[in-house]
Amino acid sequence: MDLLLSAEAAAAAAPELRDRADIPDRFKWNLNDIFASWEAWRQAYDELEIKIGAYAALQGTLAQGAARLLAAMQLSDDIGQLTYRVWYFAGLKYDEDQRDNQINARRQQVQILFAKASQASAWFNPELLAIPLTTVQQWMTDEPGLAVYRFALEDLYRQQEHVLDEKGEHLLSLASRFSSAPNDAYSALSTADVKHPTIKLSSGPEITLTYGQYRAILATNRNQADRAASFEAYHQVFAANINTYASLYNGVLQRDLFHSQSRGYRTTLDAALHGNNIPPAVVENLIESTKAGTEPLRRYHRLRKRVLGVETYHSYDAAIPLVDFDRKYPYEHVQEWLPASVAPLGAEYQAHMRDALASRWIDVYENPGKRSGAYSAPVYGVHPYMLLNYNDTLDAVFTLAHEMGHSMHTILSNAHQPFVYSAYTIFIAEVPSTLSEMFFLDHMLARATDDRERIVLLQHAIDGIVGTFYTQVLFADYELQAHRLVEEGRPVTSDGLSDIYFNLLQAYYGDALDYDELSRITWSRIPHFYSTPYYVYQYATCYASSAQVMKQLTSGSEADRAAAIERYLTLLKSGGSDHPMPLLQRAGVDLSRPETVRAVVDQLDGLVTQLENAIGALAKV
Ligand SMILES: [Zn+2]
Repeated sequence: MDLLLSAEAAAAAAPELRDRADIPDRFKWNLNDIFASWEAWRQAYDELEIKIGAYAALQGTLAQGAARLLAAMQLSDDIGQLTYRVWYFAGLKYDEDQRDNQINARRQQVQILFAKASQASAWFNPELLAIPLTTVQQWMTDEPGLAVYRFALEDLYRQQEHVLDEKGEHLLSLASRFSSAPNDAYSALSTADVKHPTIKLSSGPEITLTYGQYRAILATNRNQADRAASFEAYHQVFAANINTYASLYNGVLQRDLFHSQSRGYRTTLDAALHGNNIPPAVVENLIESTKAGTEPLRRYHRLRKRVLGVETYHSYDAAIPLVDFDRKYPYEHVQEWLPASVAPLGAEYQAHMRDALASRWIDVYENPGKRSGAYSAPVYGVHPYMLLNYNDTLDAVFTLAHEMGHSMHTILSNAHQPFVYSAYTIFIAEVPSTLSEMFFLDHMLARATDDRERIVLLQHAIDGIVGTFYTQVLFADYELQAHRLVEEGRPVTSDGLSDIYFNLLQAYYGDALDYDELSRITWSRIPHFYSTPYYVYQYATCYASSAQVMKQLTSGSEADRAAAIERYLTLLKSGGSDHPMPLLQRAGVDLSRPETVRAVVDQLDGLVTQLENAIGALAKV
């Protein structure tokens, strides 16, 4: 079957790059909702500086009693609220056009003020923690104003478990200067000092293979030999320095071991999870249950091999689209689809979303100097703002759905929580954004009339699950096994690390992949391993949580579904008022149970079946 015929050229041209002044206002965010002018910003900045000084002056007062503690907490809230507006007004203006030096200077001025603020508040934790917890608990009972801060204050005491005495902390702070060295050296070796290889493509041109080029070839070049040559050349760069990468990574592992042992944690994993109070069983369950659920992943890749019509199927064949289809999705069209897609969450939720779309909260199009990528900025006391670089592609639509999920979380959390708990942790943050994308996919699948579009949508969703779930769990497994090497006093060599990685690849992909020797060293080029160990698993837990929520929102009786909606909205309204695990448990998600991970496996299984059907239907035409 020939699936690679191009779709009809019905596609509208992508929006061209315009000067910011030429883009109509309704496609640009309105920052006057934060401050009416730079003069107003300046006044708020000055006010903030005065308040920071006042906070520093409270040092030495806490032990005097409940009223003093309350005063400090309330002033800290005041400062925090003002900080959001002062920071984002300058920060968002800067992102409109980063070439503007005057705005950049104002933005840096706020950063300098932040450094002052952090010095001015450094006294608080040690002074509070010198007061016995029982005393502070009594104060919270006696002084009603303090009650709201109970979770925040008690959590400071919980975190205290692993804080050392003054001498110990001083020593650790001196040692911390070395802690970024392995990652800095990794960046220098893999980016600043790297010599990009050149390769000759079958179509003729010789190109310099940067990471961006490499990714682009894997995602767009339909010639397998070109993809193979790119893979080979790109990984040879790392293979040439593989022992250096292993010793840098050993530096990361030894640092984490030093940190966890000096603070009295049982393991490096315990140390990484303590901040959010996550039990290690969550990560262990995630890894075990995912490994037991790799069949749909393999099925997807076997299907890809068949559709692509290749003799052998390699890791570099996994990103190429199954069909050519470049339909454009103009921004105006998706305005109605997006609120429609979240109908299962209720009319109020939809109304918030319509508001966000209509009230100039979004900076839609690219312009010269604008920051790249996309984000949702939670400007407390105003509303969330979203930055996009919308280019009418399917990716751009899903990015909008994603950022809208974050923004809805911000709206509900800010409306229902006191300031101190309005911010949510990364452990929960990607749940609403992922769920928003899931709803949007369902909506788009339901309205798609073309098999080709259906295939593109399904591949988008499946690749999302592979990238944010399976790959991230594989990474987490690798990090855990590597850290265990040093915890158990075993040597760390490039061969040993490559064995761990290769065994994992085989455990996940089984016979669905033809393995290349160079795949063994993939670990050496993953920046997260060096920069933020034990971090990426959170993408996977968020994904699993959304899959579980989605399952509950869309199955069972009407009453079950209504209860699931309530629970989910409560999660969004809860902000950071508790640790992530209890918050998720109240939403019906228990990450320590295999069923939660199973929800992702089932979801992928269903999507692969739909993809098989869509491909079958297209082949018949
Ligand atoms: Zn996100």
